[in-house]
Amino acid sequence: MADDTSKNYQIQIDRYAQKIHQSSSIDETKHLLESALKEIHPPHSHNEVHLSREQVRHSEQDLANLREELERVRLLIHADPMTGALNRRGLSAAFSRESARADRHGATLCMAMIDLDGFKGVNDVYGHQAGDNVLLHLVNLARETFRPSDVIARYGGEEFVILLPSTGLDSGAATIRRLQHNLEKSPYLHHGQPIPITFSAGVALRRQNEPEVDLIERSDEAMYRAKNALKNCVMTSPL
Ligand code: GH3
Ligand code: MG
Ligand code: MG
Repeated sequence: MADDTSKNYQIQIDRYAQKIHQSSSIDETKHLLESALKEIHPPHSHNEVHLSREQVRHSEQDLANLREELERVRLLIHADPMTGALNRRGLSAAFSRESARADRHGATLCMAMIDLDGFKGVNDVYGHQAGDNVLLHLVNLARETFRPSDVIARYGGEEFVILLPSTGLDSGAATIRRLQHNLEKSPYLHHGQPIPITFSAGVALRRQNEPEVDLIERSDEAMYRAKNALKNCVMTSPL
């Protein structure tokens, strides 16, 4: 009985390990890891199944490894490899989490859409690699400027979405202006020379039950107003 339980357990682990090894996409790997963690239960009562301490230790280590691997894959799926910011999928997951939290606590949630001004010119003058470095520099600066609980996501090429939990419209706009100020003070240095770069931004406060797609649309609309005005400024969406 004891042997059967531990043997079945080992067979399940081996079967999943093989499938994970053969999986062809990160999505598939994540799915397999989630199923493995859900379905595979190590024999519970150690006395009951007379497992040796060594077997128990191995079982627990196997599960710990699966959990670690799942976390690693989850991060990979949600991150933009170039800047380390979240990608769109990561943004959607963060939006679900933060909007649910805001609803639970009756708190506000602000979104900002940021688009770099004249970025094509940066690539043309300094080269594409320097352009990439400017994007990474902006994300690092945003991390230093914003609260750790704020969410930074790369929405497109040189467009970023920021989620600001527990933040109203005015302080959301002020926060984004702080990043503009910091970027002006600390531009990216290309071979020691500053690359002056600015961005336009639109900020919107989430309405009750407003879905992600609508809030993005309103932030984007406000950002386009900023572009069409002076650039290098922040506009807000009407409440
Ligand atoms: P605007 O002020 O109107 O936004 O002008 P813009 O030049 O920024 O124009 P637009 O937003 O239309 O173009 C974005 C440019 O950003 C086009 C593309 O060459 C560049 N870009 C997009 N993604 C990347 C990237 O990952 N790396 C680099 N280096 N450049 C990128
Ligand atoms: Mg753009
Ligand atoms: Mg642009």
